[in-house]
Amino acid sequence: MEKTSASNFLETIIAEDLAAGRVSSVVTRFPPEPNGYLHIGHAKSICVNFGLAETFGGRCNLRFDDTNPEKESQEYIDSIQADVRWLGFTWDGEVRFASAYFQQLFDWAVYLVERGDAYVCDLNAEQAREYRGTLTQPGRNSPYRERPVQENLDLLARMKAGQYAEGEKVLRAKIDMASPNMNMRDPILYRIRKVPHHQTGDSWVIYPTYDFAHGQEDAIEGVTHSICTLEFEDHRPLYDWFIEHLPVPARPRQYEFGRLNPSFTVTSKRKLKQLVDDGVVDGWDDPRMPTVAGMRRRGYTPGAIRKFCQMIGTTRSDGVVDVAMLEFAIREDLNENAPRAMCVLNPLKVVLVDYPDSKVEALSAACHPNRPELGERVLPFSRELYIDADDFREEANKKYKRLVLGKRVRLRNAYVIEALEAVKDDAGNVVEVHARVIADTLGNDPADGIKPKGVIQWVSASRGRQATVRLYDRLFNHEAPDKGDRDFMAHINPESLRVVERAWIEPSLAQATPEQGFQFEREGYFVADRYDHTEQAPVFNRTIGLRDSWSEQGGAGE
Ligand code: ATP
Ligand code: MG
Repeated sequence: MEKTSASNFLETIIAEDLAAGRVSSVVTRFPPEPNGYLHIGHAKSICVNFGLAETFGGRCNLRFDDTNPEKESQEYIDSIQADVRWLGFTWDGEVRFASAYFQQLFDWAVYLVERGDAYVCDLNAEQAREYRGTLTQPGRNSPYRERPVQENLDLLARMKAGQYAEGEKVLRAKIDMASPNMNMRDPILYRIRKVPHHQTGDSWVIYPTYDFAHGQEDAIEGVTHSICTLEFEDHRPLYDWFIEHLPVPARPRQYEFGRLNPSFTVTSKRKLKQLVDDGVVDGWDDPRMPTVAGMRRRGYTPGAIRKFCQMIGTTRSDGVVDVAMLEFAIREDLNENAPRAMCVLNPLKVVLVDYPDSKVEALSAACHPNRPELGERVLPFSRELYIDADDFREEANKKYKRLVLGKRVRLRNAYVIEALEAVKDDAGNVVEVHARVIADTLGNDPADGIKPKGVIQWVSASRGRQATVRLYDRLFNHEAPDKGDRDFMAHINPESLRVVERAWIEPSLAQATPEQGFQFEREGYFVADRYDHTEQAPVFNRTIGLRDSWSEQGGAGE
């Protein structure tokens, strides 16, 4: 598997730690909160954490940071595990849960209270905010800060026993209300939350905060390098404070890297959830979503996503990455690996008037131009075919390298034909084209020397199959849809999905297995829908358009 990056600063740190004997083997973790589906930013974090463990022969845990039961659910727990596996990573041992450490965390909270390092505070949220000060003004000590140890122990036990209402009391660390770092101003360790938890049921009515839980969870698991995103940089002194003040079994250290923010994308779980809840998209795994499940359904491959995460590197700055880089990685992967096939999205019937009615030739074509090991498929050729309506004109200038009345075109992997007549309906629309087959042109130029103008895709009308094709495009039409206080909902691309109900596909495509990807020649890359595709009713999703048209491959251009 690829390394995360050749010159990744985290690799340098770890290599030094190993060389100096500070750690003997590397343990990392990926710690999602199960309050949504994983997205492309999480994929980056997964590649970093699992990638570092792989690079250094260490281990990486998957740990659910499930300290906020209201917003969490089993659906998210299941999808996250499936997504990590699909990306190609294996976590060490069983999946872990922060909630499994609730008793240990509570015992450590008691430990802090006993040492005079934590106290129960009765300030309400508004008062607490006021006491906290601002970035420019120090905070003030809570009037409850000097409670005696015994009283604190008693109040904490009552909090745990459910004797107070939510918000009535919190447990806080006693650090420094004048610290220039707001996170050190007596941060909250426990809050009262009278909600059942998906793992622990009704056992707890107080829940630890992220800050109090995270580093201790790392210590319990023997994590050596706790890697998170830059917004936690200011939390690091607190992370270290807990590790120093508690009898934890290990001394993990936190390192931060820059979040991945692709252009034309939102990666906030709250906003992604809003897209789902408001019905803008059809679920978390809608192919337009930047979720791992969405990208999967769209036809993105794990290898391409990993490659992208490697390409963009791992740095200590939060920049926007052009989403075209992700699309490039997908195209590159599919160009190399996806079998070719033919699909006609906007069908126009062609009747080969000199071709026998009952005859069907079983032509064959390579599945991939430079991967003979991918084999060949059978392409039935018959008197009636479909071509794309855009590939025919009654008249055209020289730039138009497709079928024109009186002129020739090559049917991809088949014969050269010449258009004879355009049959029209009453309104003057072309409804059918009559053409003739130029003899002996399978793999040969016409003997009379009159060469075809270009190459177009086609499907046999009698042997081809109809399919639903969903043409997906970017979900947002603004490069920074949620920057600042911009309303991201105002930048939804109204053309992010167009459904073609009756496209024609070559017959071999009906046998595609769900999630199998193809290049539909001259159209782009497509995937058989993971859920809806069947042999009887084929459904394909457009993964991404082609970077290059056929003109560069010696065929017809667009
Ligand atoms: P929340 O606001 O719900 O906490 P989150 O995006 O931080 O959202 P987590 O489930 O806490 O979600 O994230 C799990 C891990 O993934 C964390 O270590 C987090 O730093 C990392 N992560 C999240 N978003 C990105 C991103 N855009 N780029 C890189 N890493 C990310
Ligand atoms: Mg988070």
